[in-house]
Amino acid sequence: MSTDVDPSAPRWRRVAAAAGLLDPDGGVRATVFAEMSALAARTGALNLGQGFPDVDGPPAVARAAADAILAGHNQYPPGPGVPALRAAVAAHQAARYGVTLDPDREVLVTTGATEGLAAAVLALAGPGDEVLTLEPYYDSYAAVVAMAGARHTTAPLRATPDGFRLDVDALAAAVTPRTRLLLLNSPHNPTGAVLRRDELEAVARLAVAHDLLVVTDEVYEHLVFGVEHVPVATLPGMAERTLTVSSSGKTFSFTGWKIGWVTGPEELVTAVRTVKQFLTYVSGAPFQPAVAAALTDPAALAWVDDLVASLAARRDLLTAGLRDAGFDVVPPDGTYFVLADAAPLGYDDGVALCHDLPALAGVVAVPVRAFTRPGSPAGTALRSYVRFTFVKRREVLEEAVARLRRLRP
Ligand SMILES: *Cc1c(COP(=O)(O)O)cnc(C)c1O
Repeated sequence: MSTDVDPSAPRWRRVAAAAGLLDPDGGVRATVFAEMSALAARTGALNLGQGFPDVDGPPAVARAAADAILAGHNQYPPGPGVPALRAAVAAHQAARYGVTLDPDREVLVTTGATEGLAAAVLALAGPGDEVLTLEPYYDSYAAVVAMAGARHTTAPLRATPDGFRLDVDALAAAVTPRTRLLLLNSPHNPTGAVLRRDELEAVARLAVAHDLLVVTDEVYEHLVFGVEHVPVATLPGMAERTLTVSSSGKTFSFTGWKIGWVTGPEELVTAVRTVKQFLTYVSGAPFQPAVAAALTDPAALAWVDDLVASLAARRDLLTAGLRDAGFDVVPPDGTYFVLADAAPLGYDDGVALCHDLPALAGVVAVPVRAFTRPGSPAGTALRSYVRFTFVKRREVLEEAVARLRRLRP
């Protein structure tokens, strides 16, 4: 499946089409996230659509950023990122995963993971290439593959009694001689799946057999609940072909700071840096030393552990509440999100439910269709699913759960 638009159309229209924003009459819609947030604002409904925390990260880390501004960290920082942050990222990967990186050659600071992903795809894929992602997928992937002029192909994650799982055979079948890049994401948004070691080993075997480059989005690497996060770069044969992308936004609850990083072999990081320097040139001077301190500060990392414990409890609260309301729920092992099937409530279309939900229950969610390609098998399989976020204060979730009970058949 592909969302082909007239190839003579300007590229931005193909980007809009790839992102599902092009109306049949040629108009361009807002994203479903903007649409649903506007709906929440208009109706006063609780917004469990967009995934950002309603409590900021550690005050000491915020103080470090404020201090950095007052100490004069306000001009262009070095293009690859400030040395302290590159060293901290390398130290983090070594301490947590046993991955050794040269901070000068194998670490690049980017404007959030979003820019790291975009620069990686633009650097490594182009017309004639295919970029293979999981489906559903984070919404920026389809857009940036279209920006690169490459073709987007997908392999499904499937709802199973054991959570969302990768269909390894479908992934293998989706690889063609034109597949250049495998764009992975684990822990996975929107499903909350954390790919298991055996699934990732199958991915790695495929990547080695077909000589694919892998870009892996691991922004939720810390936010896993009782399961192991396995960086695909740690598997045999993968370090030399993998770019790992992460970010401080989700880990430290500072999503507005937009400090991310890309790590991997020098040649691939050089490719990404070459593109990145002409996208944003550099990123957030005063935030970089603050994030460097956070990544190496035991108190900040203990704060992250507390966040993980609290998120796991909030996941349980929302999961139980959604079940109580009549949804079928596939419990997530990580991230900010849980997917719920509205079919038992009589909705075979998540889009319709999301439009009705503020009036029915005073809650806003987003349809999983926003994360799939029009007409794709994965999109059809998940047509009745909606995504809720649980990265909201406990009292907000308790109120949401009480309201959702009104749906109970
Ligand atoms: C939030 C998110 C990002 C974006 O990260 P930034 O650092 O804010 O750019 C990327 N990928 C996934 C899967 C996300 O959920």
